Amino acid sequence: MMNKYRLMSPGPTPIPPEVSAAGALPIIHHRTPEFGEVFTRVNENLNRVFLTENDIFTCAASGTGAFEGAIQNLFSPGDKVLVVNNGNFGGRWVKMSRAFGLEVTELEYDWGVKADNDEVADALANDPEIKAAICVLSETSTGTVNDIEGFARAATNVVTIVDAVSGLGACTLRTDEWGVDVVVAGSQKALMTPPGLAFVSVSERAMRMHEVSRMPRYYFDWTAAKKAFERDPAQTAWTPAVSLIIQLDVALQQLIDEGVENVFARHVMLGRASREGVKGMGLELFGPDEDPNSAVTAAWVPEGIDGKQLVRMVFREHGIQVAGGQGALAGRIFRIGHCGYFDAFDIIATIAATELALESLGYPLEIGKGVGATQRVFSKSGVRA
Ligand code: PLP
Repeated sequence: MMNKYRLMSPGPTPIPPEVSAAGALPIIHHRTPEFGEVFTRVNENLNRVFLTENDIFTCAASGTGAFEGAIQNLFSPGDKVLVVNNGNFGGRWVKMSRAFGLEVTELEYDWGVKADNDEVADALANDPEIKAAICVLSETSTGTVNDIEGFARAATNVVTIVDAVSGLGACTLRTDEWGVDVVVAGSQKALMTPPGLAFVSVSERAMRMHEVSRMPRYYFDWTAAKKAFERDPAQTAWTPAVSLIIQLDVALQQLIDEGVENVFARHVMLGRASREGVKGMGLELFGPDEDPNSAVTAAWVPEGIDGKQLVRMVFREHGIQVAGGQGALAGRIFRIGHCGYFDAFDIIATIAATELALESLGYPLEIGKGVGATQRVFSKSGVRA
C-alpha cells in the first residue's frame, strides 16, 4: 500500500505548497530595496501575529539561538532570574541561564502540570533582586500550555520572557495586552516555514534592561539588530537567511488572510479533536484536557505497548510521523503536533493510523471509535462526543 507522508510532529511542521515554492525562487541580494521590501512586510506581519507593536528581531538560528540571545542581551553575569520549569524546554532555560552565570530561582513542576502563578508572584515578592521571569507558553514536551496572561500579571515588576517557540500562532498570546516584554519564537512550528529562523520581540522596558546589561554578545546583539532594522528599507545586521525570509513572507500572508483570531480558533478545534480521538481510542491524555492546549496533544502509551514501536509503526505502516516522549517520558507517551499547517483531516488520519497501529500491536480496541470521536468535533450537526 502506498503511504502518503504526513508530518504530525510538533516541529518541524509541514509547510504549505506555496511556501515550498517560494523557497525555489532565485536568491536576491540582501542589501537591496527588493529584499528590504520583503523584510519590511515580514516585520509588519510578524507584529500582527505576535500581537505587539514592539520591535521584533529576526536571526538565522533555531529557537534556541533567540533564547541564548535574550539571555545575553538582558542580563549581566550574576543577575537573578526566575524560571518556571514544567517540561523539557523550561528545563533548557534553567540550564542555559546557569550556563551564562545567572543565579536561577527555579519553580519546578511535574511534567504536564501547569505553572501556579500565585507561586510565581510569591517567589518574586520573596526576592526583590530577581530581574526577570521566564515561562514557556506551550511546553512542547508535554502539550501543556501555561497561563501566560496570569504569569505576566504575577510578574509585572520584572521583565517577563516567554518561550513561544511552539505556541506562537497556535495558542492565544496577546503580547502587548498582557504586557509580555520578550517573546521568543521559531519559524518551524505554527509559522509554517522551514526551520532556521528565530524571532524575539522586545518591549521598551526590556530594551532599557538591555542597555545596561554586560553579558558578552556579538551575533545576537539587539543593538546591532535594531540599528539594521531601523534602516530604510529594513535590514538585518548580518547576512539573513534570504530564502527562509521569502518563504516566511508567504506563510505570514496566509496567516493574515486566515485571520489571527481564526488561526487560534482553528488550533483550539484541532486540539479538541485530537484529545477526543485519544480518549475515544480508550487511551489516557497526558496533561490537562483543556482548550488552551491547542499546539500539541500528548497521550500515555497504553500498558503493555512499546511507545517507540508504536511511533515507528504509525510512520512505517501509515506514513504519519508523530513524536515520541522526551526525557523520562521516552517510550511512555506519544505526541501529535498540530501547530501550523494542519486541518481536520490531518487529525482524523492520525487518529485512524494510531488505531490501526495499536490494533496491530495487539491492543484491544474497537477500530473507529477514536476516529468517530474526532469527527464529531468537526461535525456541523452539533452532536458532540
Ligand atoms: N522551546 C520550545 C517550547 C520548543 O518547542 C522548542 C523546540 O522544539 C524550543 C524551545 C527549541 O527550539 P529549537 O529546537 O528551534 O532550537
